[in-house]
Amino acid sequence: MLIPTPTSGDISLYFHLPFCHKKCDYCHFYVLPNKDEYKSLLLKSLLLEIDQKKALFNHKKIQSVYFGGGTPALAGPHFIEKILEALRPHLHNEIEITLEVNPENYDLTALRSFHQIGVNRLSLGVQSFDDDMLIRLGRTHSSKDVEKALENAKKAAFNNISIDLMYDLPDQTLTEWRHTLEKAIQSDTTHISLYNLSIEPHTVFYKYRDKIKARMPKASLSIEMFEEAKSQFEKVSYSHYEISAFCKEDYYSKHNTGYWLQRPHLGFGPSAFSFYEGARFQNISNLHKYSRKIKANEEATDFKEQLSNDLHLKESLALHLRLLHGFDIASFEERFGLIPTTLSKTLQKLVEKKLLIKDQKRLRLSNKGLLFHDDIASEII
Ligand code: SF4
Repeated sequence: MLIPTPTSGDISLYFHLPFCHKKCDYCHFYVLPNKDEYKSLLLKSLLLEIDQKKALFNHKKIQSVYFGGGTPALAGPHFIEKILEALRPHLHNEIEITLEVNPENYDLTALRSFHQIGVNRLSLGVQSFDDDMLIRLGRTHSSKDVEKALENAKKAAFNNISIDLMYDLPDQTLTEWRHTLEKAIQSDTTHISLYNLSIEPHTVFYKYRDKIKARMPKASLSIEMFEEAKSQFEKVSYSHYEISAFCKEDYYSKHNTGYWLQRPHLGFGPSAFSFYEGARFQNISNLHKYSRKIKANEEATDFKEQLSNDLHLKESLALHLRLLHGFDIASFEERFGLIPTTLSKTLQKLVEKKLLIKDQKRLRLSNKGLLFHDDIASEII
């Protein structure tokens, strides 16, 4: 599958809705309790922020809108509708509009309303089909909830559903992982994303990191789990199009491919990241501080970095390599500038180590390189 390269007029929008009933033990995102007062403050601020950032996107073609979090579905259809109404003059028909949903939020009426207001893709945080594992992760749903959520999403006319699965988990065995993969395949969704557990500061897992790490699978088992998933999904016609993502037909994530292809994106809401004109910036990770800044029409960011041309090129190259079809070298150089000689030498060495494959026009990861993208990226950058 060849994913189209973004044109210079493309952009994506991301909305961070940080509400969750309970924080999962491994979660490092900015998350808040699901309170009405927070929701109404956030909605007001997001509508103002859209207005303030309009000049950055009104001359561009929005390719995707993504509601992430947190659990954005908890904000309810009315909240999402207000945001989409504000964006409506800038949206065209084929745009991908994704909403993250947790399996315990499977209310059919709400799912129908989300579909009616224009959400056309759901991303379901399944993580595992093993109930004991879900408890270990501090999740509040069960595998039954997942089945019900998928059934209702299909009843609500969603024909593009992605599920997230996690591996490399404490006490996880290959047998348990195979069971999760089997159930995932039976769910017959259009897209599957894999995540391996990373233990981040400010999480419950971080507090007990030594004990947790001792219970995590060894590197060889982790590779086996990844390869098992790849082989199971490919057997039933999922295309492996990005290191950790698989899709049926051409249901690849338009939003996420934007990150890998360096399509500009603007983030709205507390803690949301943006990448625009070679600069990345992040909004303040605190609802009240963020909202005060927005209300005062001031920049609500607390981090901004303008990338040098050199770093921008290197980061783009490492990100492009995440896509399995790699990239056309000539078009890449047209967008980002000529690949410097020192970097060409590094790439050549990676080809010699059989981590990358280069044909006349394209550069891509080899099967071995797939397992070592992080190391390849650090060599490049
Ligand atoms: S549901 Fe997602 S965002 Fe919410 S606490 Fe769990 S991992 Fe974090």
